Amino acid sequence: MIEQVTLLGVQVQAHTYNSWLAQIETWIKQGDRLHHVCTVNPEFFVIASQNEQFYRVLQQADACIADGIGVVWAARLLGKPLPTRVTGTDGLDKIAERAAMYGWRLFLLGAAEGVAEKAANVLRERYPRLQIVGTYAGSPAEQEAPSIIQRINDSQADILCVAFGAPTQDLWINQYRHQLCAKVAMGVGGAYDFIAAVVPRAPKWMQRLGLEWLFRLIQQPWRWRRMLRLPVFVWLVITRARRPLYPPLP
Ligand code: UDP
Repeated sequence: MIEQVTLLGVQVQAHTYNSWLAQIETWIKQGDRLHHVCTVNPEFFVIASQNEQFYRVLQQADACIADGIGVVWAARLLGKPLPTRVTGTDGLDKIAERAAMYGWRLFLLGAAEGVAEKAANVLRERYPRLQIVGTYAGSPAEQEAPSIIQRINDSQADILCVAFGAPTQDLWINQYRHQLCAKVAMGVGGAYDFIAAVVPRAPKWMQRLGLEWLFRLIQQPWRWRRMLRLPVFVWLVITRARRPLYPPLP
């Protein structure tokens, strides 16, 4: 059993990339249903504090992994350290590597027009045996869902990555989880933008120092409003990290 830390009522798994990939392999072998992975960062918790539906989705997910350094810090503060960040961007690259070895089929949904295809080409070049069986920008709009689901199911993808941003991507996966035939679905935020190099990724030294968020702020200054969620997250962690954001459901 993988260790976990409960932060504001959400269980975050203490995965390394290897244990996480092993979990994905198990789910694909089981093949019984879709498993939902949320790549959580501090923004997720602040959004959840204002959006109970999103909070319940995080609670229902099969795994929440610590995409953001703030989540790793908060866990340390609670005395239950997480071994590492497991980011959507690096995670997708590692999934692609494993997928090329094991024959898992990937579908990349979301991001701006053409970006998923660009990211797919980068990954195919890195891992020549990789099967990316579909890419589609799509939209989270409700009326589009049936045709998107059809497209994904027709592709017989094992793993579905969704880049609609949080909370939309995870609400979308949760809403349609019973109609999707993939075995694993995960929200990946800006992962295709980084892999396709549409948006530059922070240099490794900044990632190591936990400053990736600062690099993103410098690159995309319009994100400053979103960054205001960071102090709110710190406040939530300091004042009530061990308590759930909402009472348990009856
Ligand atoms: N996006 C999308 N449709 C939407 C909203 C967002 O395809 O309706 C994409 C957007 O183009 C980007 C990704 O979702 O590729 C989310 O990126 P963001 O930087 O917000 O995610 P983060 O990495 O910060 O979670």
